[in-house]
Amino acid sequence: VEHALVKGITNYIIEDTEACRQRAERPIEVIEGPLMDGMGVVGDLFGDGKMFLPQVVKSARVMKQAVAHLIPYIEAEKSEGQKAKGKILMATVKGDVHDIGKNIVGVVLQCNNYEVLDLGVMVPCDKILDVAKKENVDIIGLSGLITPSLDEMVHVAKEMQRLDFNIPLMIGGATTSKAHTAVKIEPQYKNDIALYVSDASRCVNVASQLLSKTAKPALVDGARTEYDEIRERRKNRGERTKLVSLKEARERAPEIRFDDYQPPKPAFTGVRSFETYDLKELVDYIDWTPFFISWDMSGKYPAIFDDPKRGEAARTLFDDGQKILQQMIDEKRVSAKAAIGFWPANRRGDDIVLYTDETREKELTTLHHLRQQDDKAPGKPMMTLSDFVAPEGDGPVDYVGGFAVTTGIGAEEFSLEFKDGNDDYNAIMVKALADRLAEAFAEHLHERVRKEFWGYAEDEALRNDDLIRERYRGIRPAPGYPACPDHTEKATLFDLLDAPANAGLELTEHFAMFPTAAVSGWYFSHPESKYFAVGKIGVDQVEDYATRKGISKAEAERWLAPSLAYDPAE
Ligand code: SAH
Repeated sequence: VEHALVKGITNYIIEDTEACRQRAERPIEVIEGPLMDGMGVVGDLFGDGKMFLPQVVKSARVMKQAVAHLIPYIEAEKSEGQKAKGKILMATVKGDVHDIGKNIVGVVLQCNNYEVLDLGVMVPCDKILDVAKKENVDIIGLSGLITPSLDEMVHVAKEMQRLDFNIPLMIGGATTSKAHTAVKIEPQYKNDIALYVSDASRCVNVASQLLSKTAKPALVDGARTEYDEIRERRKNRGERTKLVSLKEARERAPEIRFDDYQPPKPAFTGVRSFETYDLKELVDYIDWTPFFISWDMSGKYPAIFDDPKRGEAARTLFDDGQKILQQMIDEKRVSAKAAIGFWPANRRGDDIVLYTDETREKELTTLHHLRQQDDKAPGKPMMTLSDFVAPEGDGPVDYVGGFAVTTGIGAEEFSLEFKDGNDDYNAIMVKALADRLAEAFAEHLHERVRKEFWGYAEDEALRNDDLIRERYRGIRPAPGYPACPDHTEKATLFDLLDAPANAGLELTEHFAMFPTAAVSGWYFSHPESKYFAVGKIGVDQVEDYATRKGISKAEAERWLAPSLAYDPAE
């Protein structure tokens, strides 16, 4: 049994568990004995860096199947089941749909004998707190990926304080950070502790300390001191980051010339939908490095296979992934859909005006962009994406494109089939692969756009490596990412594309895309266009931006919270 757990082999686990059961006096002893002992070995190897996350999730699969075999016997005996070390509620917060990380953490906690109540995705605060109360949970764990989730987590922390909760709150997910937890979340919740947990490999350790009367005070004190220091440092740094006025930033815009430049004209304007795209075509466009990262294994593909420590685990993970990928494609378990569009456009200040047609008589809509404001070295321009589009006036008509792609249609169902069969490993695998396919689809369509639909790079001949390194002309910035951090602009993009009808994609109230395996963004064609980070912005730009968008300053501050150089509350 220990061998099966450590090696993640499910082939004989039912027979072996049954053999143990027949020898044991009571079925529960099989869990408390060989199964827990085996998981203990797994935990030690993981802690020592001799096992890696995907292997642990495979061990958990063995554990789960063994326990599933024993449960009817335990129930027939009407005896107490194995007593869990603690009850942990896990949820992806309201407005967010991402759950790969949450599911991994859930599995790791479960196989370490914590009872996990997983409320799923898009869980509103009051539901989280209701269930936490009713079920008398010991810890709440919040997960989220997109930036609006950060604000939602602050809200949950405030509510926990207001409603007199006194259990720990664990924070995790891609855009969360120790700094954000220290500055924004932890100060809101003083009854217990709000703790940032950097990745799945830390969760068991943190949970066990939080639930241990003797270990908890040191952990909490240590975190409080550290968070105090972070806040102090932030304050000092805040005084040091020098922003220039929006006016000055605009004066220091990059000098992109349009007077002797003819913007390329796309083959069509308006929207085109791609139905049931063949996934086979996308496989060669996959960037595998982030696949390993999603399993907590950093290292560049394919060099990671030669890593003396991680190579073997990486190879097995990759091979396991290929099998599921084949199934997704051959058995058509997931399908893809996409929409792209092009519109006549010109820059107006920091915004981009789209027109209904090339006569430019009627405006279709306005895209709003933010400009860098943190002071740069002399000669370095202060950019906004709008700079890459020809200005309105006497000059030529330019174009902007938009796209929304998904490869997640059917992914949730396929994943659930595995989960229902006590196979969290492949349930997570499906989602990780669907995400990879979505990025590959975005890469592939962008290539077609350059060569075919916009046609400004017909002769481009790049290998996937070069595509990953973005060695082509033009960019496809995504709303919510550093060059255009405002997620709400996705609403305009989705309207323009009619993404629900043409790409099978919806937005949540916090502008997360659903199905989750999706990418959307703008196309810019200018040879000088490139990615950058807007960084921190000042109140003058927020006021200007709010006016341009026709929203209140407070609303703008809410959506731009991660980009603000100031605290609106002060
Ligand atoms: N090859 C990688 C691509 C990661 S970047 C992968 O497969 O995961 C994913 C997307 O994020 C890019 O295609 C682009 O749409 C967007 N992006 C990256 N950096 C950006 C930035 N600074 N501003 C806006 N969008 C960005």
